[in-house]
Amino acid sequence: MPSSSKHVAVVIVGGGPVGLSLAIGLRHFGVDCVLVEKHASTLGFPKGRVVNPRSMEIFSQWGVADRIHAQGVEIEPATFGFLGETLLASEFRRIEFAEPLSTPMSPQEWVLCPQERVERALREAAEEADADVRFGHRFVSFTSENDSVVAHIVDARGEPIELRCDYLVAADGSRGAIGPSLGIGFEGPGVVGESISILVDAPLRERIADRVSVLYGVQRPRPGGGFAMVDNDRQWLLMLPRDVEHEPPESFTPDRCVELVAAAIGDDSVPITYLGHRLWQPTARWASAMSAGRIFLAGDAAHSTTPAGGLGMNAGVADAGNLAWKLAWVLRCQADAALLDSYDLERRPAARRSAEASLAIGAAVREPGARRSALGVTLGIEYESPTITPDGTTATRLADGIHDYEPTARPGGRAPHVRLADGASTLDMFGSEFVVVVRDDYGMTSHLQNEIGGLARVAEIPASAADAYGISGGGFVLVRPDGYVAARGRNSDASARDIVAAWHRAVGR
Ligand SMILES: Cc1cc2nc3c(=O)[nH]c(=O)nc-3n(C[C@H](O)[C@H](O)[C@H](O)COP(=O)(O)OP(=O)(O)OC[C@H]3O[C@@H](n4cnc5c(N)ncnc54)[C@H](O)[C@@H]3O)c2cc1C
Repeated sequence: MPSSSKHVAVVIVGGGPVGLSLAIGLRHFGVDCVLVEKHASTLGFPKGRVVNPRSMEIFSQWGVADRIHAQGVEIEPATFGFLGETLLASEFRRIEFAEPLSTPMSPQEWVLCPQERVERALREAAEEADADVRFGHRFVSFTSENDSVVAHIVDARGEPIELRCDYLVAADGSRGAIGPSLGIGFEGPGVVGESISILVDAPLRERIADRVSVLYGVQRPRPGGGFAMVDNDRQWLLMLPRDVEHEPPESFTPDRCVELVAAAIGDDSVPITYLGHRLWQPTARWASAMSAGRIFLAGDAAHSTTPAGGLGMNAGVADAGNLAWKLAWVLRCQADAALLDSYDLERRPAARRSAEASLAIGAAVREPGARRSALGVTLGIEYESPTITPDGTTATRLADGIHDYEPTARPGGRAPHVRLADGASTLDMFGSEFVVVVRDDYGMTSHLQNEIGGLARVAEIPASAADAYGISGGGFVLVRPDGYVAARGRNSDASARDIVAAWHRAVGR
């Protein structure tokens, strides 16, 4: 018999970066949630490290951007990639990436923060926000009932627990069992390689002083491998393609791993201590559905990208940004349950674009002048769903849909960042509620606020920003709590009737 049974609004399965982000987002909107994670602690082995501006914008809306910044490492080496026969080869090329790691299109920059640290910071933030975070708890199965889901869990002592919830979110990673148990499969190329990551301690700080970079492409022990920067000091992560036929998992003994790293360093006299290794498969795929009834898939449970472009975790954080407010609005009865259908409609195409972009970026990464911003698939995602009211304009076709981004306040787009005279960003207005943006010379703001009541807050922007929002000639932009444009009226004064109608569509009514 289960040792306890409790009702909670949302149960999140998985305490990786996506589950933890969602817990923070739900708490930001005042929603109770329990997060269960089978491991006793957060990630203990280097994985991703690129947190992109869109994730930082979401973290900023939820008050956790400073924590991630505080954990970030120096950005300067991220400007460079290294190419050499070995890490210590006398001849090498240090390539400056074609794009800087900041963009005038966002108030946030890329942050280089090892995923282990991101996860620790997110766990701390989720706990401080009073999310019920339970590590050492394994989700076993669920039972769907008419108006709830019962999650069956085993706690750290091996005792069964039942949690009844309104909604269950599977953030259980690429090997998660919840999606498959719902009959949800994957589309796309799937597994595109076999890799091994080996983590070692080796005192190399002084030896690499003339070549400090973020990625070190090496030809030894085999082409296609390289070191990812961990601390550019003692910790080194070698990533190599793996020959599955001749290198079974058991062949990677600590001695063999050290041998491979020594070959990649190119100097046998460097003392190397083996710290661990992981086998993994670069994968590009997306789920055939990101929801089924009261259950939602987020992060790697719903999509995988290859590491190229640093898009995987970021795409999952964007899922959390899309889902958190929708669950909150429905649970608070401020929206119809139909709003939740838009999660799949909006995020699945975005997931597909990220997966495909990672393949294209990976194919070009070693070419001179390779671009890596991926702004087109991060800031430039435009959603289409019945909750978005089109305004008759068409999307601009960009030459490079992966990297190019043209800010637009078209319905479905991310509301653009414009720096205001006081140094604030237009994005600072968004993140907690619906906002109706009008020009500051509109003159009827309080009247409009009275007419639309508590549905949305009316906010003024100066003429200098109105252009970027496409309302220099009057009108309004209705922005959702996730900072995406739900509707825009461009031709006349903001009409309360139009805004209220668009708001109803935006909440699934
Ligand atoms: C080498 C490499 C480099 C990468 N670089 C980047 C990068 O720079 N930027 C980027 O954005 N992404 C990067 N990624 C991708 C990124 O690591 C993943 O996209 C990210 O970890 C996905 O987060 P997640 O929370 O969805 O899943 P995960 O991190 O896999 O977390 C899922 C969690 O669910 C838990 N879980 C599973 N089943 C259960 C259960 N039954 N009960 C309880 N808990 C369960 C697991 O223990 C796990 O902790 C990289 C990946 C690799 C391999």
